[in-house]
Amino acid sequence: MQTIGRRLSILFVICSIIAILLITLFVNVTVNSKFNQYMIDIQNNRYERIVSYFEEVYKREGKWSEDSGAELMHEAYMGNYCLTLRNNNNKTIWGMDPNDIKIGQHLSTMPVLDNGVYNSKTFEIKSGEIIVGYVDIGQYSSILMSEEDVNFISSINKSIVVSGILALLIIILVSLYFSKQFSRPIKDVANMSVNLSKGNFDTKSNSESNIEELENLRKSINILAEKLKQQDMLRKRLVSDISHEIRTPLNVLQNNLEAMIDGIFPVTQERLNYLNEEVVRFGRLLNNLNQLKEFESEGIKLNFERIFLDELITSIYKDFYLTAESKNIKLDYEIEPDKDYSINGDRDKLIQVFINLISNALKFTKIDGRVIIKLYTNNKNIMVEVKDNGIGIREEDLPFIFERLYRGDRSRHQIEGNGIGLTIVKNILQLHYASINVISKEGEGTTFKICFDKDENN
Ligand code: ADP
Repeated sequence: MQTIGRRLSILFVICSIIAILLITLFVNVTVNSKFNQYMIDIQNNRYERIVSYFEEVYKREGKWSEDSGAELMHEAYMGNYCLTLRNNNNKTIWGMDPNDIKIGQHLSTMPVLDNGVYNSKTFEIKSGEIIVGYVDIGQYSSILMSEEDVNFISSINKSIVVSGILALLIIILVSLYFSKQFSRPIKDVANMSVNLSKGNFDTKSNSESNIEELENLRKSINILAEKLKQQDMLRKRLVSDISHEIRTPLNVLQNNLEAMIDGIFPVTQERLNYLNEEVVRFGRLLNNLNQLKEFESEGIKLNFERIFLDELITSIYKDFYLTAESKNIKLDYEIEPDKDYSINGDRDKLIQVFINLISNALKFTKIDGRVIIKLYTNNKNIMVEVKDNGIGIREEDLPFIFERLYRGDRSRHQIEGNGIGLTIVKNILQLHYASINVISKEGEGTTFKICFDKDENN
């Protein structure tokens, strides 16, 4: 098995070697063909120059002699080519021996090359339109190149090889760097998921990446770890909450009953009533838990019907009015007039939602406080707000108040409840395609905002 980094590096290097080989091949082929063309052009120029030189000589002297163009001989020796001058009857006037230029090479500064094949070409020498002679120009094929030419070709090849090696080194370094950029965050995420699977939820991946997908992956695994941590915390809290909720009434019952059996407490009507209240409270808790179980197992059956929220809330408001007054809390109800507040819903369940929210608001608001219920529309949505100026919810409790049995610490010690009300509210609203949000500040008050989507509820 290979690491991503290694695999990527190998891939980079293979691709670059192929690219460099292709470039070398391409540059070499192009340079060689251009260079050959250049050499052929030079040769053709030379032929033209020699022929026109002989034509000039003939024009000047009017005939051929042993000396005609003899001065070219030196240049021919130096340039390693061989000249033979013939008259129009094909009779040789003068000529060079091809073997001389073979020897001449050893004397000259030309590189010692394989002599190649001797080639000779014949050109006509004309005076006006009449052919007055012929010149044979011969050379060994490989002597076409001078030392500079050979140097030129080999230096190009050398620089291609050197730049290829340099490019390869740079590519290896770059590929190592980039493959690390890929592999580091992935390795981090992999390590983190191993930690999560072992139940260690306190891990966090900090190796940020500038590659979008990897950064998203890192962020989502961090979110996952955070969520798992919360769930783990809630699970632990749930177990301790349930045992606490059950143990308290049981302890009260046990202590009182034992005291009565031992004759420490007299068995009075009042004491029996008190104990009965504890049993009722205990039964209520079990009922609530049972109800919650029904919601969560999705086995609950809803009886949908046309409901006019304004009327429904009005009747609940009236029911609570006296309770609020007894606590000296001002309970108000504001409706935006002339709007359609009808939805499809389960009457009893929706009543439970508003009862839970309003009773919470009254429960967590001190004497002389104020609770306002608002009903209004917002675009296509029907909004219900339950707002109080009570004790508020601590910031650290806010994300959890809809969780099963979650109770703010202050309410746990001072105010009666069992932390199920809001969980039920949320479950019922979800079945009605509605959402609920909470805004709260400790010491200032709380607002629960419900949003019914009219499209979904019609
Ligand atoms: P309970 O009211 O039985 O404790 P809930 O599920 O109804 O359970 O509420 C959960 C927690 O949310 C409460 O314990 C309390 O801390 C907080 N809470 C709910 N409503 C309010 C409110 N109007 N003002 C302040 N705190 C609230």
